[in-house]
Amino acid sequence: MAEQTGSAPGAQRYIPPDADTIDELHTIDELRTAAGGCRGCELYRDASQTVFGRGDESARVVLVGEQPGDMEDQKGLPFVGPAGRLLRRAVDDAALDPTHLYLTNAVKHFRFQLRGKRRIHQTPDQVHITACRPWLVAEFARLRPEIVVVLGATAAKALLGPSFRVTRQRGELLPWPGSAQHPEDFQRVPVDSAGKRVDAPPARLLATIHPSAVLRADDQDKAYEGLVADLTVAARALRP
Ligand code: SF4
Repeated sequence: MAEQTGSAPGAQRYIPPDADTIDELHTIDELRTAAGGCRGCELYRDASQTVFGRGDESARVVLVGEQPGDMEDQKGLPFVGPAGRLLRRAVDDAALDPTHLYLTNAVKHFRFQLRGKRRIHQTPDQVHITACRPWLVAEFARLRPEIVVVLGATAAKALLGPSFRVTRQRGELLPWPGSAQHPEDFQRVPVDSAGKRVDAPPARLLATIHPSAVLRADDQDKAYEGLVADLTVAARALRP
């Protein structure tokens, strides 16, 4: 069982060199392979595997969640458990084209507590979010989304900093990467498929609740409607 620690070496040393330069960007597949060997914090010890992001590198919408759950940990894919199913339904109801999505998490290993034989989800601490953030930065160096959707408080901490409150600012379109805690980490000159520099189109960020919060809510219908309403704002903000 993963114990809480006050510090962790962080993922930076596991990122392939040059992954953050314009001319030598690593593909998402290369990053995924490298992340398989990450020992940037203690969470790798008890989890089954690294669960990296998935989707098209040219996705128009990037959704960032918290961490893999039990099912994701077993399958090695993000958002394939109950919360992922609910998210897919909400994406459909919000008329977001699922082929335009890239899905990832702020923390790439499952953090849990053993109770008997059951593995009970534990929210990642700031130390895990900080340790794993270099993978997010490396992913964003490849991606050129029009909209970044932050799902819940852990993803908000990773991208927007600890003072951002999802409950206060959910559903608002904010500038991306201007609203990031360290926008310079996410600022890059995009390159096209031929490796030529192209103008960076303006992007936006929107925060909402994590789909697992809908599953835990007393009034699930109302919580679900709220999630769909926020995702609908994101869908309507896409360029025609
Ligand atoms: S949670 Fe992130 S930083 Fe920690 S071992 Fe896994 S990939 Fe590395």
